[in-house]
Amino acid sequence: MSSEAKPAESYVEKPKTLAELRAGIATGRTKAIDLAASYYERIEKKNPRLNAYLCLTKERALVQAARVDDAAAKGDPLGVLAGIPVGIKDVLVMKGAPATAGSKILQGYRPPYDATAVAKLEAAGAVLLGKLNCDEFAMGSSTENSAYGPVRNPVDTERVPGGSSGGSAAAVAANLAVATLGSDTGGSIRQPASFCGVVGVLPTYGRVSRYGLIAYASSLDRVGPFASNVRDAATLLSVIAGHDPHDATSSPAPVRDYAAESDKPAEGLRIGVPREYFAEGLDPEVRAAIEKGIAALEAAGCAVKPVSLPNTRYAIPVYYLIATAEASANLARFDGVRYGPRSKDSATLADMYRHSREEGFGAEVKRRILLGTYALSAGYYDAYYLKAQQVRRLLAEEYLRAFAEVDAIVTPTAPTAAFKLGEKTGDPLAMYLADIYTVTASLAGICGVTVPCGATKAGLPVGMQVLAAHLNEGTAFRVARAVERAGNRE
Ligand code: GLN
Repeated sequence: MSSEAKPAESYVEKPKTLAELRAGIATGRTKAIDLAASYYERIEKKNPRLNAYLCLTKERALVQAARVDDAAAKGDPLGVLAGIPVGIKDVLVMKGAPATAGSKILQGYRPPYDATAVAKLEAAGAVLLGKLNCDEFAMGSSTENSAYGPVRNPVDTERVPGGSSGGSAAAVAANLAVATLGSDTGGSIRQPASFCGVVGVLPTYGRVSRYGLIAYASSLDRVGPFASNVRDAATLLSVIAGHDPHDATSSPAPVRDYAAESDKPAEGLRIGVPREYFAEGLDPEVRAAIEKGIAALEAAGCAVKPVSLPNTRYAIPVYYLIATAEASANLARFDGVRYGPRSKDSATLADMYRHSREEGFGAEVKRRILLGTYALSAGYYDAYYLKAQQVRRLLAEEYLRAFAEVDAIVTPTAPTAAFKLGEKTGDPLAMYLADIYTVTASLAGICGVTVPCGATKAGLPVGMQVLAAHLNEGTAFRVARAVERAGNRE
């Protein structure tokens, strides 16, 4: 072979399904310890180019794998994720492992506890491989805002994986983990899932505990899974969902068996297609792929009808006001005293705060702190923040009205497929505007799933977003399964 770079396709690899792997481990045919080792080998090979993992937690992973193998050998009951290698976005904390949130300001911070979602994965038998790269404090749509370098899309390594959970999406697409966790505030699970050709889940606000999630915008932040297929993503959601005394906003509603719900045929479901999501700015190839997906749903026996969400046009300003306002408050704690590096040579305490923040935060994070502080300042609060909260309510009500008539709503996840690295970094506003299809569900608190739905002519994946009402994840999974089945038949 020549010394030329390998073809980009060689980075894409589909993991085995949970059911296959789990069966191997239960019978002892597969040893969890060997499985973990094989994942670390692949990470060693592919990660230098992809930059998906920021750190590996080998010691903890191998202890857990040995524990699973032991239990399997003794015939003890095994968790639903026994021996399954997973990765964690670096905004979720793992006890003793560096947590950076993609920022320099957290360098050297090792949290003393596990996020609830992380602890639940491990309690179900999962093997935690390491922490995954992301945009700094989850602010971004391309993972180019990470202080530790961008992640590359395994489908085409000259392109972005999306963001902010770019590492979580890329890791599943390249089989550097069977499944991963990410966080989604305005699209950060759904859009990278779409760009990398994997499944991503936005659980209802409060469905998964935020305890141990480094906060971006607390009224919007969600923790959710990525997987290579809908059923596995549904299984993971059942593991991490549920009420948590450490998070007062977590829902007490009983957790359902989402995988079993996803098995039900989509036949008879009413599917809404919002006309506002197929207007100006939508790439024609993305539109064609989504329309094909909608036709597949019709063929599967769904009743497809148009719905209208006219307030969508206000969604971007509303989202960027609320998210930055909350971010400016949440990020006040990074002051050079409590976490991470402290600027040297400051004469006064105020200077020390200023210099530590000046040196520690990247440009996009600073931009958002400024925007948010401005929106919250006296004299502007009523005109911006309060108004945004009022429109947020209208957006939520609009969705509830639509869900009185349909069981699920389908849209493109993003207006384009993955763009080139560097293509949009010079134009933050263009980057913000591309979040139009994902931020409305974030503001409304409803749930959704992004599922692969065809590709562009250049072979770049397109994702369909399937939205459902609060706590109605099962319906979103059912519809996503139908889209997935149609794709697999092609
Ligand atoms: N791209 C959006 C933003 O930059 C969403 C990020 C997210 O969901 N964390 O705010």
